Amino acid sequence: MITIAVPAEGDKSEQRVALSPETAKKFTALGAKVRVQAGAGAGANFSDADYKQAGAKVEKGAAATVKGADIVLSVRRPSAASLKGAAKGAVLACILDPFSDKAGLAGLAKGGLKIFSMEFMPRITRAQSMDVLSSQANLAGYKAVINASAHFGRALPMMMTAAGTVPAAKVFIMGVGVAGLQAIATARRLGAVVTATDVRPSTKEQVESLAAKFIAVEDEEFKKAETSAGYAKEMSVTYKKKQAKLIAEHVQSQDIIITTALIPGRPAPELISKAMVESMKPGSIIVDLAAERGGNCAVTRADATVEYKGVSVMGNTNLAGDLAGNASSLYARNLYAFIDLMIDKEKKGQLAIDWEDDVIKGTLVARDGKLVHPMLTAKKAKTGKGGKK
Ligand code: NAD
Repeated sequence: MITIAVPAEGDKSEQRVALSPETAKKFTALGAKVRVQAGAGAGANFSDADYKQAGAKVEKGAAATVKGADIVLSVRRPSAASLKGAAKGAVLACILDPFSDKAGLAGLAKGGLKIFSMEFMPRITRAQSMDVLSSQANLAGYKAVINASAHFGRALPMMMTAAGTVPAAKVFIMGVGVAGLQAIATARRLGAVVTATDVRPSTKEQVESLAAKFIAVEDEEFKKAETSAGYAKEMSVTYKKKQAKLIAEHVQSQDIIITTALIPGRPAPELISKAMVESMKPGSIIVDLAAERGGNCAVTRADATVEYKGVSVMGNTNLAGDLAGNASSLYARNLYAFIDLMIDKEKKGQLAIDWEDDVIKGTLVARDGKLVHPMLTAKKAKTGKGGKK
């Protein structure tokens, strides 16, 4: 019978947890023993009693939780020291942040763990339930609008009152992936006038279906700016110039801008220059969801709110973590769907990993002491990380 262990997060600012009472119950039903560190779910309001009731054993301290475990689940990358007691060749699945602290990752790999990075989940239909980028980005897109509206010194919806009309706020969403779509929907629900831009042509219809207006230079290059995997391509210098001009004019009249633009494996593209921030009205807000990858705005600082010439630029890198209850429930379900693939259904509670499965191959980062993922072993593996801390 395998043991699944969930130690508390090493980073105390992380409120999310990798196991919910719901998934503890499901893992137990699969024939696994589940161990969780006391207090691990506190940030998400899952109590030790909830876990016990779901069939998990609550242990004091990380060492007792991890001891002899076959599978360790966490939100962020745990330290090598904290996993020392796990079984030889144990599975670790987490949001690994594989491009940062490469030496630390190599150290973790050396211990012989089978390390899986949930961010590398292939975007195939079968893996949608395991897609942590989507589950967390959706919440982040919602929270970005909520934070911006709370910080904004005006109302979002239009209001007709006896004392006169309050105009609707103008909200502009840059980058219409999972986070951007949820940001559009949230801003619309709050009554704002919403516009959005993206370099992928397929987003135009999605924006319009949410009753927002699409803004972009729609030339021949734009029509081909999407990879077969559905991601954005790096655009040419000429396109970027044309698009920047159009966006610069639009930005001046906006009250709130939410930026979410990312290109896999690269630093975030800069879409808002200092001059563009200066052109905005005092009291305007920018929420930069790309802050962790360097930011879409020139003045963004990761995990800080910068006041620049009357404009607030918010660079929180873990907005999903601020909705820890929902974020943990969804993340725990992503992990459950993933680990379920590795558990033998006939010999209940035994590990049976199919190394040829695209989902396993796509997410496997280290095995037998070595880094094995092509994005980490290729000579020019790009970081894209770092933010302007
Ligand atoms: P992402 O986080 O990589 O990027 C966010 C958005 O920024 C994207 O829409 C991208 O086109 C846009 N962008 C990049 N450069 C830009 C620029 N210079 N200007 C404006 N916008 C720019 O994207 P994501 O949220 O991960 O989603 C990417 C795609 O993958 C979407 O089509 C999404 O629906 C799809 N998806 C598929 C699955 C699946 O099939 N399992 C799961 C999740 C997402």
